[in-house]
Order: sequence, then structure tokens, then C-alpha cells
Amino acid sequence: MTSENQTALGGRLVVVGGGTAGAEVAFASRSAGWTGEIIVLSDEAYAPYHRPPLSKDLLKMDAVFADPDPLKGAPLYAKKNIELRLDSRVDGIDATARTLSMNANHSLSYDRLVLAVGGRARQLPLIAQLETRPTNVHELRTLDDCARLRSCFQTGRVLMIVGAGYIGLEVAAAAVKAGQRVILLEAAPRVLARVTAPVVSQFFEREHAKRGVEILTSTTIDNLSFGADGRVDRVATSDGAEYQVDNLVVGVGLEPNIELANDAGLEIGNGIVVDDSMRTSDPNILALGDCVDFHSGFYDRRVRIESVANAVEHARRAAITLTGGDPKPWQVPWFWSNQYEHSLKIVGLSTGYDETRVIDDSAGTSFAVEYLRDGRLIAVDAINHAAAFQSGKRRIVETIHA
Ligand SMILES: Cc1cc2nc3c(=O)[nH]c(=O)nc-3n(C[C@H](O)[C@H](O)[C@H](O)COP(=O)(O)OP(=O)(O)OC[C@H]3O[C@@H](n4cnc5c(N)ncnc54)[C@H](O)[C@@H]3O)c2cc1C
Repeated sequence: MTSENQTALGGRLVVVGGGTAGAEVAFASRSAGWTGEIIVLSDEAYAPYHRPPLSKDLLKMDAVFADPDPLKGAPLYAKKNIELRLDSRVDGIDATARTLSMNANHSLSYDRLVLAVGGRARQLPLIAQLETRPTNVHELRTLDDCARLRSCFQTGRVLMIVGAGYIGLEVAAAAVKAGQRVILLEAAPRVLARVTAPVVSQFFEREHAKRGVEILTSTTIDNLSFGADGRVDRVATSDGAEYQVDNLVVGVGLEPNIELANDAGLEIGNGIVVDDSMRTSDPNILALGDCVDFHSGFYDRRVRIESVANAVEHARRAAITLTGGDPKPWQVPWFWSNQYEHSLKIVGLSTGYDETRVIDDSAGTSFAVEYLRDGRLIAVDAINHAAAFQSGKRRIVETIHA
């Protein structure tokens, strides 16, 4: 361990962001030997919680909308001497003085800073340009978003969802089960077009259509009309149709929160640029999770990944960097989605595949798609097929490290 690291271990570690990456890095740093203060600042009102249930279990009308499922129970923060400050929004970093400003007028110094600021839902230009955001336009990123959306679910209402990625599809599944008419708009020619092979898209299109979700692919919004209360009441689509809607959900991707890092002079790419140790261009500042553009040691290219497993892996790597240990080998990325009774598990990154193989599709509901590049397995989508996921994970590691 360097003397620089020994000094820092007893210093003040400040983490900005109370999501998975922020909570995990605080606890992992304590376990790895950080003896000084650890302060986690979050602009949300709740202790760090699991985000995946927001578009799954918590949207089901038969589920009790209780307090969020915390990532770590309150007693654990006290036990590990980690200070969690909620409703604390960081609005500036002075990297030279090693201080940050919070809630406009408070300042806090740090020895090491970790940015775990995640991202925000991308806006539709037609909505972003409005002076006041209509109250029936929703996005789904936080527990508050989830509570607002869920309170609009009512039998017979019309919900239009823009974007048929994972979040759009998961919301569609919950909304149609709650008895709403669901119209799903997707600009690409098929659902999940960016992330899966056509056979997986076709499976999910079929499953949603069976339950009554109206899926309009290669279709965008042309125009919105508003009622006297400022709410969107009609949507004109690019295929010439017009729909009366009660609510609109926008699920068109995530914009990484790079503004703080950018203002502090850190290097920015497709997110905050970090090296293999999760250090930004300022060695005292690390960044991790959804907001970073990092070099995947596993795929040997720069990527930005939005998943729980990725946030946890980054947090553990950053904790090792902060405490001077040896970095672990990179893990193969993975992700999951649940829609109706179906479980989709994805391992690896399929971008750049030149061949696919479908396995085990005899019954049509339990199958897997293997993605290959130059004859090597790079990713697997497993639909209701835990064994294909596990074996895919093992074989991807073997082929990539071969
Ligand atoms: C609805 C939904 C469903 C998902 N489902 C899955 C799934 O099934 N599987 C999966 O692997 N992943 C899923 N994800 C993605 C996964 O939740 C994220 O990849 C993961 O939470 C990333 O964690 P993070 O800590 O990097 O960012 P975030 O969870 O976004 O946390 C960032 C935190 O920082 C706070 N913050 C931002 N700026 C500031 C500031 N200036 N000051 C203070 N605080 C700030 C934010 O409010 C937030 O609390 C889902 C995400 C959503 C939104």
C-alpha cells in the first residue's frame, strides 16, 4: 500500500448518490479497510433502495405499496459507522480545494470523492420544450415516480407508453394486468430492437399482444393536444392515427448525470470517463455505476452499462482502489427482466454479433438465444431457462479468456 493510500484511509470519503453503486461502495470501502469518515449524500428522501421492483412487483396492483425495499437496513449504517444524509443535493465540486457544495449553501470537504450519480430518464423533445410538464406524463426512475404512476392505474383508463425497451415492456405488463387499455409505441421496427435478436422480440410481442397490449412499431408521436388543465389528452401518431389517452409513460432510455463531473473539469465521454480502477481524470475522484464510461476488461472496449450487477462490481472495484488492495478480474455483465410469468436473463453484451443460435425452443416458451462473433460465444438471452443462463455464463468466460 502506498503512503498516499495509508493517509487517505483515515480521511473523509464522500459518496455522492444513494443508489446501488453509492450504497455498495460505502459498505465495501468500510469492509476493505477505510477507517475514516464515510458520508453518503443522496438527493432522494429514502435510504438507498432496490430499483428493479419499481417497474415490476411494486407496479402490481395486488402488491402492497410499502416502504421501499432498502439495500441495507438502517441499523447497518450505524453499525458500520456510515453517515447517510438524505435530501442532500450536491450542486458543485471544487476539485482543487477538495470541497463540494450542497443544497445551494452548505459546503463539505473530502479526501476522496466518489460520484455514483446514476442517470435520469431521457425526455421526448415535444415534452421537454413545454413550459410546464403535464401531470399525466410519467417517467420511471425513482420510488416517487413509481408511486405517482401507480396511483393513475385504474380499470378502463388508457395508458400510452412510448418506448418498448425493458422498462416500457415491464410497465405494459403491469398496466394491462390492472385492466387498462395499453398502447405501446416503438420507433424501431420491433420491441427490444437495440438489445436482442428478432426471435426474442417476437416472443415478447406475442406475449404482450396475447394480453391485449396494442403494439405499434415503426411509429412515433407526431403531435400532442392538451386539455384545459394542461394534461395531454390526445396523441397523434406518425401512422396517421389519433388516440385519446389518460396517461403517458416515456421510457426512451437514460441520460447519465455528467453535469457535476463536467463542471469540475473531469473527462467526459459516453458518461464520466474512468480507468480500470474507477478513477476519473482527477485521481482523488472516482465514479461508478450507470453514470460511467469505463473500459470493460472483459470485452476489452469502452462501455456504459445500466444494471445492478454492474453497479455492484464497480463499487467493489472502487473500494479496492480506495484502500490499496489488488483489483479482481472483471466479471461478465448480466441483467434480468420479468414480464407476466416470464423471466428473461441476459448474460454478456451481444453488440457486434454476426451469428445467433436458438436452443431448446421446442415448447416455444423456454428457450435461449446464443450470440456469437467470429464463432465465439459473447452473450446469451435465456427466456425461462435458468440452465442456459448458467451454462452460457460459464462458456462466455471460457471463450473470452481462451
Ligand atoms: C424502473 C427500473 C427498473 C430496473 N430494472 C432492472 C433490472 O431488472 N435489472 C437490473 O440489473 N437493473 C435494473 N435497473 C437498472 C438498475 O437499477 C441501475 O443500473 C442501478 O440502480 C444503477 O445504480 P446507480 O447507483 O449507478 O444509479 P442510480 O440507481 O440511478 O442512483 C443514483 C442516485 O444518485 C442520486 N443523485 C444524482 N445526482 C445527485 C446529486 N447531484 N446529489 C445527490 N444525489 C444525487 C440519484 O437521485 C439516485 O438516488 C432498473 C432501473 C429502473 C429505473
